[in-house]
Amino acid sequence: MTQTPQLFDMTGQVAVITGGGRGIGEGIARSFSEAGAAVVVAARRVDEIETVATALRADGGRAIAVTTDVTDDDAVEALAQAAVDEFGSLSTWVNNAGGSPMRMPLSELPREEWDRTLALNLTSVYVGSITAARHIRATAETGSIINISSGAGSGPVPGSAHYGAAKAGTNSLTWTLSAELAPHIRVNGVAPGAIPTEVMLKAVGKNEDQLDELLDEWNIPLGRLGTPQDIGAACLYLASNAASWVSGEILRVGGGAKPR
Ligand code: NAD
Repeated sequence: MTQTPQLFDMTGQVAVITGGGRGIGEGIARSFSEAGAAVVVAARRVDEIETVATALRADGGRAIAVTTDVTDDDAVEALAQAAVDEFGSLSTWVNNAGGSPMRMPLSELPREEWDRTLALNLTSVYVGSITAARHIRATAETGSIINISSGAGSGPVPGSAHYGAAKAGTNSLTWTLSAELAPHIRVNGVAPGAIPTEVMLKAVGKNEDQLDELLDEWNIPLGRLGTPQDIGAACLYLASNAASWVSGEILRVGGGAKPR
């Protein structure tokens, strides 16, 4: 029987994390790297992804940065190919890039913002998943795809209909792809609660100095806001052999279920 630490060991795995330049994606990249995976950090801002990859290498990890816009199909294909060219295979892909800075009633939302939100938060997950699946099948014995969802995808969040619709679609892709890609590739989701990142603070109109207010307003049972490491740890579980019998699940990581 495999010893517990080995179940979480990602040595030999090659992982792509989109939106890995900061926030939750950076936390996932760090968790995977510290567990032994080779990591490909992808996002649009080259300075951010280079900083993350350099820090992971400085800590003994294997990491590269690949500039990618996840709404560009050719760039996503080039990203997968870059992972295989650099590290010889691809086994794990995290569709993390996403978010929505705009909150307003759907009837007031500009049509372009609807299209932009769906492209970034849903279509990119479709393109990323099928691209990843093709490269995983070609280069690895088994693999895993993780989609970063949100609580907005499974209940009403006034002002976030566009974002919630995209995340609900992401949940649906997670369920159906888990069936279509089994048994070779597992597909799971993680739905983070409140993690004070750049896009989240912009969406709720707060800054770094107002985190206590945010905590009061959100009434989180476990008494604190989340961190990128909280989400990184959940993704590590789902990507590792510890979850080798888990697929088609969406794990909520949000500081506890609120009493009704
Ligand atoms: P963030 O703004 O801190 O980071 C987003 C990352 O995605 C950045 O690296 C950014 O450069 C990248 N990105 C944005 N557009 C991109 C594009 N077109 N192509 C490639 N990269 C792009 O945001 P975050 O809070 O870390 O969000 C990460 C994920 O977590 C998102 O999918 C978001 O919807 C989800 N989420 C966040 C929270 C939260 O409270 N922060 C809650 C639920 C879900």
